[in-house]
Amino acid sequence: MAVENKFPGKDLTEDDIAGKIPLVAKKSADHRTVFTCGGIEIGGPLIPVMAGPNTVENEEMIVESAKAIKAAGGHFLRGGAFKPLSFPYRSPKFFESREDGLKWLTVAKQETGLPIVTEVMEIDKIEIVAKHADMLQIGTRNMQNYPLLTEVGKTGMPVMLKRGYGSSLRDWLMAAEYIALEHDRLGMEPQIVLCERGVVVPHTHRATSRFLLDLQVVPAAQEVTHLPVMTDPSHATFWQPWVKSMMLASVAAGADALMLEVHPDPRNAAVDPLQASSFAEFDGMMKAMRPIATAIGRTLDMGSNS
Ligand code: PEP
Ligand code: MN
Repeated sequence: MAVENKFPGKDLTEDDIAGKIPLVAKKSADHRTVFTCGGIEIGGPLIPVMAGPNTVENEEMIVESAKAIKAAGGHFLRGGAFKPLSFPYRSPKFFESREDGLKWLTVAKQETGLPIVTEVMEIDKIEIVAKHADMLQIGTRNMQNYPLLTEVGKTGMPVMLKRGYGSSLRDWLMAAEYIALEHDRLGMEPQIVLCERGVVVPHTHRATSRFLLDLQVVPAAQEVTHLPVMTDPSHATFWQPWVKSMMLASVAAGADALMLEVHPDPRNAAVDPLQASSFAEFDGMMKAMRPIATAIGRTLDMGSNS
């Protein structure tokens, strides 16, 4: 007896788009979701930049980072208080600042006005993280943690859904649909931004680079979904000298927002010191990205209509 393979591939089919992701799929070619988070529009002409350290190490460093990010024209402060680590051994340098970190993020927000993006890993921490965050980040390792996606969706807060580093576009959009379903149940349009953060591939060109930035997924995702699509060149390259070119390329590729790691003393960052950019490097990237944004009809500056 011939067995029909009804699930032929890992990539999206027309049936998937119509039947499995009805809420995140585009309804027309120019359908785009635009939403506002912490006073910043996402999905419109502005390309918001979300910058900050990997880990919120202490109050002083997060406030100092927020001030430098604001001065360079960044739009959101990012930083992990609840942090995944790929192995269980914490070092004297790396500890999760947890509830303290959330409070320090809030101090930094009060000092600068920058809204906060921070990760939530567990269902029972959603309430406390949601009190301090403007946007909830789902990390790459939790992209398919469906109970977490559902509970995060139920808050009705904006969500950044990072792409699993081994996940297809199909799996990523289906994960986003879990959050969109909860937003729909709350009677709202989905407030989700998809974040490409590097995928695992056979070659990454350097022993220290674990992932490859899948820039092609930006237009590929935008072809199918109305949700904004952003990139995170820091985690993707894992190597600071490559971050600037991938930031510039992300703008040129049509990314709707950008995330990157910025640290007051990158080489002494508690986690991932090779990928963090200094304040001066960040400022240089912001300056270099502006003309590219303008060239494609976007902008990095609030209140600008270009
Ligand atoms: C992060 O943004 O600090 C992070 C842990 O990212 P990812 O989940 O993409 O590894
Ligand atoms: Mn990080």
